[in-house]
Amino acid sequence: MKYVIEHMEEGFSEWVILEYSQIIREVGKENLILTSLPPSTTEKDIPSRLSDLGLQWTTKECVDIDGGNIEKSKICLLDPAAEVDLVPEDNNSFDYFVFGGILGSHPRIDRTGILRRKYGLAGRRLGSLQMTTDTAIRTTQKIVKDQVKFENIEFLDYPEIRYNKYEATEMPFRYIVGEDGTPILPEGMLELIKHDAEQSIDDLLI
Ligand code: SAM
Repeated sequence: MKYVIEHMEEGFSEWVILEYSQIIREVGKENLILTSLPPSTTEKDIPSRLSDLGLQWTTKECVDIDGGNIEKSKICLLDPAAEVDLVPEDNNSFDYFVFGGILGSHPRIDRTGILRRKYGLAGRRLGSLQMTTDTAIRTTQKIVKDQVKFENIEFLDYPEIRYNKYEATEMPFRYIVGEDGTPILPEGMLELIKHDAEQSIDDLLI
């Protein structure tokens, strides 16, 4: 089972670094590849936190990895607009699961559609709500690797992240609930969300 992220953001923001780092830790560096980096990319362009975790990356497109010998029918695009939901039995049909390396937006903009139109891959949905890329990969791994049905995964929709006694911010995504009952976020993400929120309040006060 290989997880493929088609990197569609420009460069690597802190948010993206935290998400990709968490994904590598959860699926293993040998099972993740970042594709479609700009043709001029060299190792120097990859943030050291990702290189240190062993990130595999390429300027090739997702359909051309592993020597370009992959059968297209073995590749699944995780697509919020697909008509069929992912099920545990899909592990028999697909070897590669492709995700958009896209930051979520609210309201949702269909940037996954770029991949849908470009590659014509089989698509599968993970329910009707938008997830972050790391949550989408975590959910896919639970379904195809751990063989847990989507309806048996516990989710939290649009959780509120409280960053001080008075203020909180609502995250417009669906998350998996962790053992402690809180949404699973990449390591360091809570601090980043709090920092960004405090920053925008400071900007308002200027
Ligand atoms: N606004 C975005 C779009 O273009 O669809 C949402 C991007 S989402 C933050 C990043 C990636 O996670 C998507 O490209 C898709 O591969 C996966 N994803 C997120 N939610 C999903 C869902 N409900 N079903 C299937 N895939 C999902």
